[in-house]
Amino acid sequence: MELVSNAATNLTPDCSSEFAQFAEDVHAILRQQVGEAVFKNWLMPLQLLSITPSTILYSLPTSFMKRWVLNNYGDALIKLWREKLPTISVIEINVIESTATQPPSPAPETKSTNKNFIVVDSDGLETSKNALLGAPLDPRYTFDHFVVGNSNELAFAAAKRVAQSRIVPFNPLFLYGGVGLGKTHLMHAIAWEITNNQPDRRVVYLSAEKFMYQFIKALRYKDTMAFKDYFRNIDVLMIDDLQFIGGKESTQEEFFHTFNALVDQNRQVIVSADKSPSDLEGLEERLRSRLGWGLVADIHPTTYELRMGIIQSKLESLEIAFPDKVCEFLAHTITSNIRELEGALNRLAAHANLVGRKITLEAAQDVLKDLLRAHSKLLTIEEIQKTTAAHFNVRISDIHSARRSRNIARPRQIAMFLAKRLTDKSLPEIGRKFGGRDHTTVMHAVRAIEKLILEDTEIRENVELLQKMLEN
Ligand code: ADP
Ligand code: MG
Repeated sequence: MELVSNAATNLTPDCSSEFAQFAEDVHAILRQQVGEAVFKNWLMPLQLLSITPSTILYSLPTSFMKRWVLNNYGDALIKLWREKLPTISVIEINVIESTATQPPSPAPETKSTNKNFIVVDSDGLETSKNALLGAPLDPRYTFDHFVVGNSNELAFAAAKRVAQSRIVPFNPLFLYGGVGLGKTHLMHAIAWEITNNQPDRRVVYLSAEKFMYQFIKALRYKDTMAFKDYFRNIDVLMIDDLQFIGGKESTQEEFFHTFNALVDQNRQVIVSADKSPSDLEGLEERLRSRLGWGLVADIHPTTYELRMGIIQSKLESLEIAFPDKVCEFLAHTITSNIRELEGALNRLAAHANLVGRKITLEAAQDVLKDLLRAHSKLLTIEEIQKTTAAHFNVRISDIHSARRSRNIARPRQIAMFLAKRLTDKSLPEIGRKFGGRDHTTVMHAVRAIEKLILEDTEIRENVELLQKMLEN
C-alpha cells in the first residue's frame, strides 16, 4: 500500500467515501470532546492512511506527537472508531515527516512490524502479532453479501473452504474471471472471515500492482531484506489481479520466490487474475505451471437469475424497492459486469431519493440512458425480430407486414414487447422498425403482452425462453 499522505483531504485515495464519512464523524466528535485548541495542535495533523478490519492507520510528522496522541487520545479514538467499525482493535501511527521537503520514507508499513509499530488497545500498549497489513478491506465485501449462482458457485465454495479451514486445503487457490464478476469481493471475504475467526493468522491482501511498487521501493531503498521478511512471514497471502505483473520479470521472480517460500511452509496463497494460468500473458513458464498446482476456480459470466438475485440483495441493503419491471429490465440489459449493475442501481436509488417517488421503467431508462446506449448496441431490434420469427416459425416479412391473423400478430407483439424491454429504443423508434407502425400500436402490444404474461403460462414461457436466447 502506498502510504503517501494526502494533506488536502486528509485521506488516502484508497479510502471509500463511506470510510471518509466515518473518519469525518469520528474527528468531529473528538473535536468537541477535546476542544478547539487541543484538536488543532495535536489531532488536526493526523492523516488517515488506511483502514483494515482491525486497524486504523494514521501518520503524524514526529514521534513525539505520535506518543502524545496515543497516550492521551488513543483510547478515545478507538472507542469512537469502534462505534463505526466494531472490529477495530488498534490505532497505529506511522511517523512520516512532511513529504513536501523529504523523499517519501521507504515502505513504512514494512518497517512497522518492528520499530515503528505501536498498538493501543483498551488494556494499554502492546505489540501487534496479528495486525492485518496490506490494503484496506471493504466492509461490504463479505460472504454474506455475496450472491451465489451457477456461474460462481465453485469459486465461492473454494473461497469458503480456504477461509474456514485451519489446514491449507489447496495451494494456491487461483480465482479467475472477467472484470467485475466478484474476484476482489471473494478475496476480501476470505480476509474478513479469517481475521474474525482465526485472529492469530496473519492475513495480507494486496494487488499485484502494489506488490510490485513495494518491491521497487524496497529495491530503491536497499531494503529488500525487510521486504522478504515481511512477505515470508505471512500465514495467508492474497495477491489480486496477478495479470498486472505479466511481462514484469523481476517482480515475477520475486513473487515466485515469495510464493515458493510460503507454499513450502504450508502457508496459504490465494491469487486472482482475469485469465487462467495457461492463458495469462507474459508469465514465466515455471510460475505459470506452479500457479496451476492448487485449485483453479473460474467465475463465469453472470446468468439472468444471478443478476436478479444481486439486484434484490442490493436493493435490500439500500433499503429501497423498485417495481419488478425495472428490476427485470436491469437484469436483462446490464449483463456484462456486476459493478456496472451496482452502479446503475445506485444511480437509480439516488434518483428515487431525490424525486421522492418510485422509479418507473421509463424513468429508469431515462436516468441510465448513457449506460444503456453502450449495452443496447449489442442487441438490435432486427435481432429480436429474427429470433422471435424463427421461434414461432413465421417469416420476418410477416412481422413487418400488416397481417392481423393471430399466429402472426402474437409473435409480432412479443417482438415489440421484447424490443421495448431489452433495448432503450423509444416507442416511435420501435414502431418504425415494425413496418412503420404508430407508437400507440407498440404501446398497446407491450401492454397486451405484459397482461398475457401474468395470465397465460404458455406465453410467459415463450417470452422467457426468447429473452434467454437473446441474451446469450
Ligand atoms: P472483480 O474483482 O472480479 O473485477 P469485484 O469483486 O470488484 O470484481 O466485484 C465488482 C462489484 O460487484 C463489487 O461491488 C462486488 O461487491 C459486486 N459483486 C460481484 N459479484 C457479486 C456477487 N456474486 N454478489 C454480490 N455482489 C457481487
Ligand atoms: Mg478486482
